[in-house]
Amino acid sequence: MKVLVLGAGVVGVTSAWYLHKAGHEVVVVDQNSGPAQGASFGNAGGVCPSFAGPWAAPGMPLKALKWMFQASAPLKIRPKLDPAQWSWLLQFVSNCRTDTFAENKQTMQRVAHYSLACLQSLRAETGIQYANQSAGILQLFQTEEEFDYGALCADLLDAEGIPNRLVDADEAGAIEPALKNARVPFKGGLHLSKDETGDCHLFCKELAALLQEKGVAFHFDTEIRSIISDSGQIDSVDTSSGRIEADAFVVALGARVAGLLRPLGLRLPVYPVKGYSITGTIQNVDNAPLSSVMDEHSKIMFTRLGDRLRVAGVAEIAGFDDSLRPSGFDNVLRRTEELFPGAVISADCKRWTGFRPMTPDGPPRLGQTRYGNLFLNAGHGSNGWTQACGTSKIVADIISGKKPEIDTRGLCKV
Ligand SMILES: Cc1cc2nc3c(=O)[nH]c(=O)nc-3n(C[C@H](O)[C@H](O)[C@H](O)COP(=O)(O)OP(=O)(O)OC[C@H]3O[C@@H](n4cnc5c(N)ncnc54)[C@H](O)[C@@H]3O)c2cc1C
Repeated sequence: MKVLVLGAGVVGVTSAWYLHKAGHEVVVVDQNSGPAQGASFGNAGGVCPSFAGPWAAPGMPLKALKWMFQASAPLKIRPKLDPAQWSWLLQFVSNCRTDTFAENKQTMQRVAHYSLACLQSLRAETGIQYANQSAGILQLFQTEEEFDYGALCADLLDAEGIPNRLVDADEAGAIEPALKNARVPFKGGLHLSKDETGDCHLFCKELAALLQEKGVAFHFDTEIRSIISDSGQIDSVDTSSGRIEADAFVVALGARVAGLLRPLGLRLPVYPVKGYSITGTIQNVDNAPLSSVMDEHSKIMFTRLGDRLRVAGVAEIAGFDDSLRPSGFDNVLRRTEELFPGAVISADCKRWTGFRPMTPDGPPRLGQTRYGNLFLNAGHGSNGWTQACGTSKIVADIISGKKPEIDTRGLCKV
């Protein structure tokens, strides 16, 4: 069967991998000049199933309201005259209940842990390297309240049999010795020893190159203008380079997915949530993390990618404004100097911004639509690098008529 994959971010490239492995003829289309130049380019580099979960959590609406008036808040809502934004926010709030949060968290955990196992076997099979490390991630807590939250997370992870260790400040400093130079005090951390890190863009480049050697065609610099239906099926896509026909279509368009599906009458609640990152060559190895630190206080993550440090965070719910706002980088730069002073030279760091393709409840949207040959692999939010291999394997299995290897409850809400 000829399958056309729409989008060459981490979700599109991994979809191509599992579809090719299943024996399909695969073609990938993307408007950019190479793979992973959207959200997958400059993300925080964490493959972290242990803390995959929805942002829509009990207490979040109140927190978000308070953050609107704080300059250094991790999340900012900039209200727009945009019905898509209001509808998404309303759905987000309605998912902030204890029961929906628990259900969505369980769904995301299930797919994220499966995804890590898929990534590990992909790596073993291909041998690709992407500045990856399997050295775990330290969630860092500055306040007593954050530490208590960490203890709660540890209990939940214990119940699922997921390795974790709640540590005090001294032990956190032993895991990540550079924290001894931090200019702010912290209470401790939660060490998630099975989580991994790696450069998502490099991973996609390597995997796409391997797929090209195996005969998968990538059409870059090709904008998809519309998806064309005929008699209840998808017939082709109209692109800047002409029409492309296929037997089946996988939509992996990141944050842009809703706009291209709307003319088909498919309303996907995926909204762009803007984030920022900086990447710099490490100047002082003693002051940089050995692996990765997720700072719960600022919601900023610090990840070592070879000889570089990636620092990423901040969430702005403000539509598709891709400007590199200096205020967006302020938190990231300030916190880098507080936790890892001198690790990089701020002025020399590359600055980047990207859109998390967020669903209001948390889990991505996978599987067959009412157009029988149109399949979704979209809405991975802040966990796309963590979940991509798993969701792509699930979608490839569904297209190939095979039963997915995990329970897909909560994932196929199309
Ligand atoms: C600051 C930040 C930090 C993050 N940190 C992490 C992390 O540590 N761990 C983690 O798991 N996740 C993280 N994420 C989330 C993760 O990066 C995303 O979930 C993931 O990259 C989404 O992948 P995707 O392939 O769906 O989207 P994208 O990578 O955005 O790919 C979509 C592709 O579709 C293409 N496209 C769109 N419209 C068209 C069109 N009309 N025609 C042709 N092509 C089109 C785009 O060019 C793009 O290449 C982070 C995100 C941000 C912004």
